[in-house]
Amino acid sequence: MAANCQISKNRLLAVHFAEGTGEEDRLIRAHVQQCVECRLYLDLIGNTDRWLCEWGDENPPAGGFELLLERIEAAEPLPAVVKKRNTVLPITPFLKILTGIAAMVGIILLLTHRLAAFSFWDKVRLWWVVEWIGPLGVAAAVTICAGVLITLALSPVLLWESQLRR
Ligand SMILES: [Zn+2]
Repeated sequence: MAANCQISKNRLLAVHFAEGTGEEDRLIRAHVQQCVECRLYLDLIGNTDRWLCEWGDENPPAGGFELLLERIEAAEPLPAVVKKRNTVLPITPFLKILTGIAAMVGIILLLTHRLAAFSFWDKVRLWWVVEWIGPLGVAAAVTICAGVLITLALSPVLLWESQLRR
């Protein structure tokens, strides 16, 4: 007996109910001829199917439904889940944006006071653009550029996530 036959039992069901394609049916039937395991399973399917078909319809006893209801314990119905519709604007996104803005202002102010620590500062601080916008302007420009670059780098992930939520 070929133990642990790899043929899917669902394919045997398809053969029994003639749901497979002709070619597939022919291959499975050829296999079943040699595989005791599959033959036994196909027999089991056939016997079960026959038994179910022979089982006549039964009429439930009179008052059966009432009897059933009596046996069921009365219980508090579960509260219906009511999905609340957002009629007011949620505050969380605004708080997140405010936190982001505060962090960005903090970074800009910190950078303004630390610009002298960077080696490039000595080379660029006399440029007219730098003199015009000042250390604060340079710090803001650097921070905004870094933010734009980070957002661009993350955009594929953000786009992918927004499509998942749909
Ligand atoms: Zn088999």
